[in-house]
Amino acid sequence: MSNKIAHLDSLQFNVAGLLTGPKGGTRSHKLYIPVSELDQLDDGFDVVAPFEGNARFLWTNERIVALVTGDTAVTLQCSRCLEPFEQPIHIDIEEVFIPSVDMATGQPIHADDADEALLIDEHHILDISEILRQSILLSLPMTPLCRPDCKGFCSTCGANLNYETCTCQDEEIDPRWAALSLYLKQDKNDD
Ligand SMILES: [Zn+2]
Ligand SMILES: [Zn+2]
Repeated sequence: MSNKIAHLDSLQFNVAGLLTGPKGGTRSHKLYIPVSELDQLDDGFDVVAPFEGNARFLWTNERIVALVTGDTAVTLQCSRCLEPFEQPIHIDIEEVFIPSVDMATGQPIHADDADEALLIDEHHILDISEILRQSILLSLPMTPLCRPDCKGFCSTCGANLNYETCTCQDEEIDPRWAALSLYLKQDKNDD
């Protein structure tokens, strides 16, 4: 897990009411996180649209189940034509948060193996910054494409084949001749 976790106020929720209430209690929050705030989450992605969605918390079995859903968009570079493009990102997270303090006794609850990002702190703050950050990172495509049929570059003349056509394909040399021409070129360079 990253050390430089940014915690956004708008992604922190005081769940004391939920923790002291009856099991099965729920809370819902509308989420609107402006780009300026999302920018602080990570420099591994470039957000261009606010995150809009909602968070639902369910208090059950000494745990709070957090359901976070919403949409944003990031700028990516196409892996074929290298043009920047906007990629919509849909987030659908379900994570279980555990309290670090027992509400009844005020005593710390030891959960040594717990993921720090999934602990409700001693002030009863449940923070979804880190799970949102990870979820955005995980939803980025391994091979970004500006469109499924991006034609990319011509490997011979470098033309962006989405916008222009070139005649390289037409003049394609027989591979056997290509090897010979390479040999002749090398021979010339050796002189
Ligand atoms: Zn492309
Ligand atoms: Zn070409």
